[in-house]
Amino acid sequence: MDRARAVTDLVIPLFRNVPAARSGVCRICHTGPNNKPNGEPYEICSSCARTVNGFRRHAEPVVSISLAVEEGDDNGLFRLVARKEAVRAGTSWLSPETLMAASLSRFYDAHEACLIQVAGGPFTMVTTIPSTRLDRPIEAFHIMPRVISMIGALRDHYKPVLLPNDRYAAVLAGRDSHPDAFQMMGMLNGSQALRGERVLLVDDLFVSGAHMQSAAYTLFKAGAEEVVALAILRLIVPSAWHENRRSIWQEASDQPFSFDRCCLCAAARRW
Ligand SMILES: [Zn+2]
Ligand SMILES: [Zn+2]
Repeated sequence: MDRARAVTDLVIPLFRNVPAARSGVCRICHTGPNNKPNGEPYEICSSCARTVNGFRRHAEPVVSISLAVEEGDDNGLFRLVARKEAVRAGTSWLSPETLMAASLSRFYDAHEACLIQVAGGPFTMVTTIPSTRLDRPIEAFHIMPRVISMIGALRDHYKPVLLPNDRYAAVLAGRDSHPDAFQMMGMLNGSQALRGERVLLVDDLFVSGAHMQSAAYTLFKAGAEEVVALAILRLIVPSAWHENRRSIWQEASDQPFSFDRCCLCAAARRW
């Protein structure tokens, strides 16, 4: 834990607080929904509305450690976690894997109780989403399992169970979910193999929910009692034309980031 703290402290100015759910904050992904014609915000954003549409069950809320932007001077975390670029931290270089493992470890240590409350009990299984990005180098396919293997609190419950269905990779790339985008591995397929399991579903980057919600759907279909989604980054696109997104990013950039609050407990603690 001291090491996770030391590593994350090296780049703490890159992190941005994820807001608690409130009016103007999507109750699923915690970014900004559009406003209705009467000026009031929708309860969920258009991405979430699209990616949970038609699913009997979906992951809610999706918990992310930090907001991140793809463009501009503030995109350091995106470069590390999404583009897998090493960044300079003081006199040394910080690898994406090291930072991802340290972030998850420190966050889980601080907010295990918050996540367990959503799950309705302790997690019985931890799993990750296999890459569907066919254009990525082979190393990218195994980075999340390697990251989880570096985290003492998560690795003992880790079980890879999902396989991508390549036929739907283009659907996911287009930011739509699909009930068949993932399938259970081998013998687990077509059975209720996850009956009674409370699953922590971990991914590096949440953009639209296409991957996360499709994967959660497959876990629920296999019998999972609960699926709690945890992403390292929630991509946000602040735009002058999207009042709620713009103000969420502004607020997050104005506040100091803290690993002591998360989007679940922040409201109760009045951060
Ligand atoms: Zn949303
Ligand atoms: Zn918390």
